[in-house]
Amino acid sequence: MSTVHAIRFHQTGGPEVLSWDSVEVGDPGPGEVRVRHTAVGLNYIDTYHRSGLYPVTLPSGLGLEAAGVIEAVGEGVGGLAPGDRVAYGTGPLGAYAEARVMTPETLLRLPDAIDDRTAAAMMLQGLTVQYLIRRLFRVEPGMTVLFHAAAGGVGLIACQWLKHLGATVIGTVGSPEKAELARAHGCDHTILYREEDFVARVKEITDGKGVPVVYDGVGKDVFDGSLDCLQRLGMMATYGNASGPVPDISPLILNTKGSLFLTRPKLMDYAATRAELVAMADDVFGVVASGAVRIAVNQTYALKDAAQAHRDLEGRKTTGSTVLLP
Ligand code: NDP
Repeated sequence: MSTVHAIRFHQTGGPEVLSWDSVEVGDPGPGEVRVRHTAVGLNYIDTYHRSGLYPVTLPSGLGLEAAGVIEAVGEGVGGLAPGDRVAYGTGPLGAYAEARVMTPETLLRLPDAIDDRTAAAMMLQGLTVQYLIRRLFRVEPGMTVLFHAAAGGVGLIACQWLKHLGATVIGTVGSPEKAELARAHGCDHTILYREEDFVARVKEITDGKGVPVVYDGVGKDVFDGSLDCLQRLGMMATYGNASGPVPDISPLILNTKGSLFLTRPKLMDYAATRAELVAMADDVFGVVASGAVRIAVNQTYALKDAAQAHRDLEGRKTTGSTVLLP
């Protein structure tokens, strides 16, 4: 048994509820491994768990993503050995820790070409982009798509991957600096949605036709307008709530706007089986190893300063991906 530090919360609320607790980590039991984290990924979903928007049992650990090294392997675990470099991006909750004991079903061995910080930054966001643009709606060369919050963690990966597929990317962003960054990562058209009418701009860019798919991690503030950006039979993928959850809507609205499709997906359902997770991760590792997608680790914080990282993420001060260092 050894004592490690972990970020935990004993009540839901703002970033101030996060505390740097001492926790006991034992030897792995049968079917478990102990992982020493070298880098932890920060994701917007962590703020939903902390705030209570997505309910958790309290007190709780936080975080679904990290990279590190296997320290010990319990009885009956095959395919992993002490010293192996691993990463995960689909939980379980509790990644904001120096070390942890977990079952290995979400763990992926890291290729040598991918360093630990890059891995911690890219697993959850990269897997998300993979299912959004390869499975939920299969983007084909020549398509023009709208991606909200294009300069964020998911956004910068998506811009590059979409470009690599031969799509034209329209991205919304919160500032001119973010617009420049999105363009540097393959976004063809940027829209400053805090100042400009993004629906009018999408119509203008597409000669009035609209787009076949909208990817929306922003939620409440852009949902209605996003439906108006779609072509008939278009796909509205509302996958996040950075500005707040989308209020209830009547299905009839999808009829009046052109027999639209609406989906509210989550990564864990697309990566529900080990086979799906491995296939998706291979795809992500492939585009990163080939250089088609570069992971922009634009902020790092000490893990104990996770509250500040949350303030900056929710304050729209970050770009690309963020890593917390134990
Ligand atoms: P980001 O790095 O994209 O950060 C969120 C961004 O949202 C901000 O930088 C900001 O960019 C934009 N934003 C717009 N309005 C607001 C607002 N009112 N408050 C705060 N931010 C706002 O985060 P992630 O890449 O980690 O995640 C992006 C989205 O994807 C999140 O909603 C997340 O929950 C979702 N997600 C969903 C998954 C799923 O499977 N369903 C999996 C992974 C992520 P700007 O200033 O340019 O507007």
